[in-house]
Parts: sequence; C-alpha cells; structure tokens
Amino acid sequence: MVKFNFLRCGHCGACVGVCERLAIQLIEETIIIDKNKCNNCLSCVIICPLNALEGDNERA
Ligand code: SF4
Ligand code: SF4
Repeated sequence: MVKFNFLRCGHCGACVGVCERLAIQLIEETIIIDKNKCNNCLSCVIICPLNALEGDNERA
C-alpha cells in the first residue's frame, strides 16, 4: 500500500491522472487512496514531483 505524506503534497493532481486503477482521489487538499483498487504499481510514487508518495514494499 502506498503511503501518502500530506505535508509534502502540492495538490498538483499528477498522481490522480496517472493511476490506471482510478484508486486516487484528490479531495480538497488530501489524497485518498482506495486500497481495494490499488495494485501497488507505484506509478503515482514515480510521477509525484514532491515525493509525497512512497511505496512501502516491493511490487507483488
Ligand atoms: S500504486 Fe498504482 S494503483 Fe496504487 S494508487 Fe498508485 S498509481 Fe494507483
Ligand atoms: S502527485 Fe504528489 S504532489 Fe501531486 S497531488 Fe499527487 S501526492 Fe500531491
């Protein structure tokens, strides 16, 4: 499961756009990740320009 650091997030929405599983929502200034949809592809971690998202384990 991807971890989100709200202190780093700039609310750019890039992670929302890259997620093919539509697992990320940007609601006001918070990112919500639906762990039931996320397949841990880490695309959002890679695209985030502010390193606000972090993978916590290897891709399964
Ligand atoms: S790891 Fe992949 S599936 Fe999960 S929220 Fe990020 S982009 Fe979406
Ligand atoms: S890509 Fe990073 S900075 Fe942009 S909204 Fe997502 S978590 Fe926040």
